[in-house]
Amino acid sequence: MRTPQRQRVRVVVRGAVQGVGFRPFVYRLATELQLAGWVSNSAQGVFIEVEGARDLLNRFLLRLEKEKPPRAVLQTFESSFLDSVNYSGFEIRESEDSGQKTALILPDIATCADCVREIFDPADRRFHYPFTNCTNCGPRFSIIEALPYDRAHTSMKAFTMCVDCEREYHDPQNRRFHAQPNACPRCGPQLQLWDVRGQIIASQDEAFRQAVESVRAGRILALKGLGGFQLIVDAKNEAAVLQLRERKHREEKPFAVMVSSLKAAQELCRVSELEERLLLSPETPIVLLERKQAALLAPSVAPGNPYLGVMLPYTPLHHLVLHSLGIPVVATSGNLSDEPICIDERDALERLRGLADVFLVHNRPIVRHMDDSIARAMAGREMVLRRARGYAPLPITLTSDFRLPTSDGVLALGAHLKNTVALRLGENVFVSQHIGDLETAQAYTAFVKSAADLPHLYEAVPQLIACDMHPDYLSTKHAAHFSAPVRLVQHHWAHIAACMAENELAPPLLGVSWDGTGYGEDGTIWGGEFLSIDAVEFTRTAHLRQFRLPGGEAAVKQPRRSALGLLYEIFGEQLWAQDDLLTGFDPSELSLLRQMLEKKVNAPLTSSAGRLFDAVAGVIGLRSHASFEGQAAMELEFAVQPGIEVAYSFLVREESPLVLDWQPSVLEMIDDLGKGETRAMISGKFHNMLAEMIVAVARRTGLDKVALSGGCFQNRYLTERTIDRLCAEGFRPYWHQRIPPNDGGISLGQIVAATMFAPR
Ligand SMILES: [Zn+2]
Ligand SMILES: [Zn+2]
Ligand SMILES: [Zn+2]
Repeated sequence: MRTPQRQRVRVVVRGAVQGVGFRPFVYRLATELQLAGWVSNSAQGVFIEVEGARDLLNRFLLRLEKEKPPRAVLQTFESSFLDSVNYSGFEIRESEDSGQKTALILPDIATCADCVREIFDPADRRFHYPFTNCTNCGPRFSIIEALPYDRAHTSMKAFTMCVDCEREYHDPQNRRFHAQPNACPRCGPQLQLWDVRGQIIASQDEAFRQAVESVRAGRILALKGLGGFQLIVDAKNEAAVLQLRERKHREEKPFAVMVSSLKAAQELCRVSELEERLLLSPETPIVLLERKQAALLAPSVAPGNPYLGVMLPYTPLHHLVLHSLGIPVVATSGNLSDEPICIDERDALERLRGLADVFLVHNRPIVRHMDDSIARAMAGREMVLRRARGYAPLPITLTSDFRLPTSDGVLALGAHLKNTVALRLGENVFVSQHIGDLETAQAYTAFVKSAADLPHLYEAVPQLIACDMHPDYLSTKHAAHFSAPVRLVQHHWAHIAACMAENELAPPLLGVSWDGTGYGEDGTIWGGEFLSIDAVEFTRTAHLRQFRLPGGEAAVKQPRRSALGLLYEIFGEQLWAQDDLLTGFDPSELSLLRQMLEKKVNAPLTSSAGRLFDAVAGVIGLRSHASFEGQAAMELEFAVQPGIEVAYSFLVREESPLVLDWQPSVLEMIDDLGKGETRAMISGKFHNMLAEMIVAVARRTGLDKVALSGGCFQNRYLTERTIDRLCAEGFRPYWHQRIPPNDGGISLGQIVAATMFAPR
């Protein structure tokens, strides 16, 4: 990868890092690696900025965790790559205690090494106790009801500490000093195993033992975890995995697996140093890893997918289950397709009826749902694709360029898909956990709850509401429930604003916002947008050529419909005579779609890059039906082989805005198909063309900073190729790190756009 040589990395760590020699350690490490910058303490954690060559910065990040002083424990570890500001030398700065005083609520933290040791030590009083935790680890955001963070304000309030736990809690020398969820087998939450009618089958250790046996026997276990129910099956048992797919109505979308150790992950997948750090981090997300050929898992776990989502155990219960089973398990959210996960056992019995065979439950209430987070390595950095457990609700802190005096209590309601909400208090934007697609009553309820939850927790009254421009989004409609003024923010502009905020990027710059669909200012469906950002507003500088989607939204599940619309845009009426391009449609269906296109009825125009991916997958026959949005685009990405340098042609049409015309590429593609060219080559040339389009627009605007956002930039090949090409041509690309490029980042972008830029 070609990225700028000298960069800056900002690291924020929280945990037991004060008074344990952490700052001197950072100083020694930075100076040994010849990095410039500083380290400082504040009430919000230890802040580090280091600057230097990219490779050395990566070394620094890896060694920071691995070589930290023995008594230092990291509860959260966030890093972002930023532009260099030319520090010279390294210094330990005075503690900063000015600035924002908002209390931080920590995310749930994976079980620490000390607690893991205890639960496997037969001599310890917490041997095999699934709710073991300490000041350094355990539940936080998922159990807190109000601030300040005291036991009385958590769902642990129903449990009274026994004498031993009480002693630990009050002893400043103890690891459990003021550990709010502190518990032991005598006084804390307990396990039960239930059958599908909610009858108790077994309790405590016996419940655990029988739950493990049922997974081993190929049954589906609903496990009440940290932030909700998970469905667990033996990942090597094809019949069991297939049954889970059938019952969950989830045909092909890949499942994540949980394995007992890093070594077990390495048996299944290639794991880079960065990926290893992510797997073992206190956030413990699902990490998308490249599978090894011979990975011995049931084929239905992630059919046709070269990647596997892998995570390590992050609660004592998961450690115990995985250790006892000794095999990888599928661990997927306990829900029907796109609903939020269940958090309550009575609700779970109802909603997971017919999905699970047995229920392993406990009596510690979950206050708010928290899915497993998903991260991947992208261009040598971490990219969070789903931000929930381990990350939420840590704030994104805006730099001075983004600060306005009147920006307290701004609430953003997010998008329709992959919804999150966000609250701005001064310099901090608190982004909620992933809520999901607002397409079911459950998801909508979870959204309404979260939109009330964040202001309630931080005792803020929203002064301004930001939401999407789409008049039909439930999130937009919900804005009317507040008495504060409402600002509508265009969807693709919000994507770019989010990318600017987390990269500390001030205008002017070019934003490339590519995704599935978003409501455009002209009422058409946008999704392949180039926005020039200046200090006041954005201008739509260019977009991909539009085409019609016969049947509208139905095209999302049928890439061949996008293909038909695309081909009709090129060939017009002559398309209907080209039988070789129309295979796979039955005559009555084709005649219906033809009418839609010809009469322009129920066939909206779109400039969407996501639908262009679908159309291309349809044209080359890779996929005619999709079982989830983005599936065709994913397969197109997977089809690419590295090392392809050629690209298809395109045109830049000199209109205002500029139009990037893909027509030459589609004609060349059809030609290639006729010649029997491989899909790897066709897909490679297509991806490369998209990167060239971005370079072409960047050249014309003369803006050297280019921000890449929108769901399309989850595509690793596209993103890395674009970064590479932009750097080679002298531009400076920026992409997402801590906030998802997909619609999970929209709420942050809405806040930035609504508070920093003029209304339109
Ligand atoms: Zn611990
Ligand atoms: Zn106790
Ligand atoms: Zn979007």
